[in-house]
Amino acid sequence: MPGCQSDPNGVLFAVSRQTVLIVEDDSVQRALLSAALVTEYDVLTAQNGAEALKMAARADLVLLDAGLPDMDGVDVCRSFKKEKDLADIPVVFLTARDSSGDQVTGLEAGAIDYLLKPINLEVLKARVKTYVQLKHQRDALTRLATVDGLTGIANRRSFDNALSREWKRLARTEQPLCVILMDVDHFKQYNDTYGHGLGDECLKRVARTAADTIKRPADLVARYGGEEFVVLLPETDLEGAKVAAEAVRLAISGLKIPHKASSAADHVTVSLGVAQGAPSEGTDHHTLLEAADQQLYKAKKDGRNRFMAAKVE
Ligand code: GH3
Ligand code: MG
Ligand code: MG
Ligand code: MG
Repeated sequence: MPGCQSDPNGVLFAVSRQTVLIVEDDSVQRALLSAALVTEYDVLTAQNGAEALKMAARADLVLLDAGLPDMDGVDVCRSFKKEKDLADIPVVFLTARDSSGDQVTGLEAGAIDYLLKPINLEVLKARVKTYVQLKHQRDALTRLATVDGLTGIANRRSFDNALSREWKRLARTEQPLCVILMDVDHFKQYNDTYGHGLGDECLKRVARTAADTIKRPADLVARYGGEEFVVLLPETDLEGAKVAAEAVRLAISGLKIPHKASSAADHVTVSLGVAQGAPSEGTDHHTLLEAADQQLYKAKKDGRNRFMAAKVE
């Protein structure tokens, strides 16, 4: 079925067309390649290396002429590979140079393949199809590895990676970083009262609400496991993190999801532990989560539906 694929359970879902970027300075070649691909893909075209670098982020595959007016295609490819957001886009060289040395140089620059000019359009279509499918599968695996299956927010692994990356980055400028650990109050009783299915629905709404409340682009909300969530707030001090924690607490309480078995309220609430770390050279982030966990424990002991906060000294 065109425009559809099936997932591992055989369920059909619509997929949007994938995008191929053609980088070619010769207008006749460009038109020929576009015409061969436009029925199956969204086609973007660039006439030189500078344009290619600007447009590549939107592409699932780049067809890259080796001889461009402003830059060597090999250098364009190397530039892609250095950019975090572009490094995973497959690049296929289009080259008239058929010496094996040129081909090796292209492949060493990070291209997955090369096609010799004059381009055979049937071969081109077949290769493009293969590489675009591989890219699609890899993107799906990346999503599975970084996104929590139930709630659709980041998973613990994404959080752990982001925390260690941000800690190192902020150590250079000695800026603060906060984490908030958040745990749903009396969730075992929620499941016991309303059933596991409604329990799952509740966790989805809690996750979505936390993610919608925490808005700065560098911040991250992740499911830490079970009914526990974690928020990463880079370049934020304790006062800022307390404001964020209270906003999340209020937003979740404001959902007014009935929870008659809770001692904290007649609806679903969360307790939160906030900790500020001070990244610097030679320190690591491991004490930060422990500190947040201690504050969470205090918030639970104090009656739940509240946050507690402390700095890690
Ligand atoms: P507290 O207020 O002290 O946090 O009490 P609690 O009942 O929330 O804490 P406890 O750790 O005893 O129970 C957590 C419950 O969360 C138990 C478990 O069944 C439930 N849970 C964990 N993951 C999921 C999930 O994915 N779906 C559902 N429905 N329940 C889950
Ligand atoms: Mg050229
Ligand atoms: Mg818990
Ligand atoms: Mg709990």
